[in-house]
Amino acid sequence: MTDLVAGVVAAVRTVVGDRRAVLHEPLFAGNEWAYVKETIDSSFVSSVGAFVDRFEADLAAATGSAHAVVTGSGTAALHVALVVAGVRPGDEVLVPTLTFAATANAVAHCHATPHFVDVAEATLGLDAHALRAHLERTTRLEATGLVNRETGRPIRAVVPMHAFGHPVDMVPLLAVAEEFGLAVVEDAAESLGSYYHGTHTGTLGLLGTLSFNGNKTITTGGGGAILTRDPALAARAKHLTTTGKLPHPWEYGHDTVAWNYRLPNLNAALGCAQLEQLPALLAAKRRLTARYLDAFAAVPGVRLVTEPAGCRSNYWLQTLLLEEGDRTVRDALLAATHAAGYLTRPVWELLHTLPHFASAPRAATAVAEHLADRLINLPSSAQLAPPAEGDDVGA
Ligand SMILES: *Cc1c(COP(=O)(O)O)cnc(C)c1O
Repeated sequence: MTDLVAGVVAAVRTVVGDRRAVLHEPLFAGNEWAYVKETIDSSFVSSVGAFVDRFEADLAAATGSAHAVVTGSGTAALHVALVVAGVRPGDEVLVPTLTFAATANAVAHCHATPHFVDVAEATLGLDAHALRAHLERTTRLEATGLVNRETGRPIRAVVPMHAFGHPVDMVPLLAVAEEFGLAVVEDAAESLGSYYHGTHTGTLGLLGTLSFNGNKTITTGGGGAILTRDPALAARAKHLTTTGKLPHPWEYGHDTVAWNYRLPNLNAALGCAQLEQLPALLAAKRRLTARYLDAFAAVPGVRLVTEPAGCRSNYWLQTLLLEEGDRTVRDALLAATHAAGYLTRPVWELLHTLPHFASAPRAATAVAEHLADRLINLPSSAQLAPPAEGDDVGA
C-alpha cells in the first residue's frame, strides 16, 4: 500500500507541480468583468435584464436545446423540471444512489420520494439493465402508470445523472423509460459540454438541468438552467420559476403557487462571459486528462476514469478508480495527497445511507457500494493545464 500511496502522490505532482491545488476553481479569462460592470452601470442587476435573455439564447445554442430557462441554482432547476415533468406529491422518482445530494433533494422538494437504484461501473451513471430487472421484479404497470408493488406509490420519473461529466448510456435507459411509462429528467449539472453520441447531455430526455455553481465547468456564482425541446414545457418552467406572474404592464396577476427561482441579470452577465470561454475550458480539461493519463500509466493498481465509448466527456472532475481495495486504501490516499497539498476528495456518501433517506425505497446497489470505496477526485481546474509552448491555442 505504501508503494501505491507514494506512486499516486508522485503522479499528481508530475501533473500539478509543487503548488497547493484545490479540487476545482473557476477561471475568469474573458469578458466577465466587462459584462458584470455593464449590469451595474445600467442598474439592471436583478431579475430582469438583457443578459438573462441572452444567456438563455446562448445556452440553447451551445447545447442544441430548443429552449433554456435559467434559474437561481441547479437544484431549483431540477425541482421545477420534475414538477413540469409531472411529478406530484406522493410519487416516487428513480435516482442513482451515487450522486450529489441535490438530485434527491429536488425530488423531496416535490414532496415525492427518491427511489434509489444502482449505477454501471463503465459510466458511473444509472444502469438501465439493472433498472429494468428491478422494475420487472417490484412494480406493476397500471392504466395510470407504473406502481411500486411494495409501497403502492406511483413511480413517475427517472433522473439519470452524468457523473463528473461522463454521459450515462442513454439509449437503453430511454427504452426502459418508454416501456415503463417514466418521464426522463436528466441531471446534467456536471456535464455542460458533454455529448452522448453527438447529442449534448441534458437534451436527450423530456427535460434536462444544468448547474453554474462556483465549482462547475462554468459559473454564474450560483445558478442553473432547464433544457427542453418542448415549447409548452419551457413556457411552464419559465412561469413556475418567475412567481407564476401573468404578463401585464402594471397588474399583479398570478394564477398559481410558484417560486422565485430567477437568475439575476448580474449572474447571467457572468454566465454569458463564461459560456464564451467554454471551448477553451473544455480544451484545457482534455489536456489535463491527457497529462494525468500519462502520469498514471506507470502506477499499477489505479486507473483514470475516461469517457465511455462513443461519448465526449467534459472531464469536469478528474477521477481515479482504485482497482482493488476498500476505504482503508482510499483514505490513506486522501490523507497523503492532502498532506502534499493536493485537495483530493472521495465520492459522495451514497444517498441511501444518509439518515434522512434511510427509509426510502431502493434496489440492490452493489456496484455503487463497490465504486464508492474506490473513487477519488483529483485537482481538476482548467488552469492546471494551460496550453504548452507550441500548442495550438484552444486545441
Ligand atoms: C452541482 C450539482 C447539482 C446542482 O447544484 P446547485 O449547487 O444547486 O447548482 C445537482 N446535481 C448534481 C449531481 C450536482 O453536481
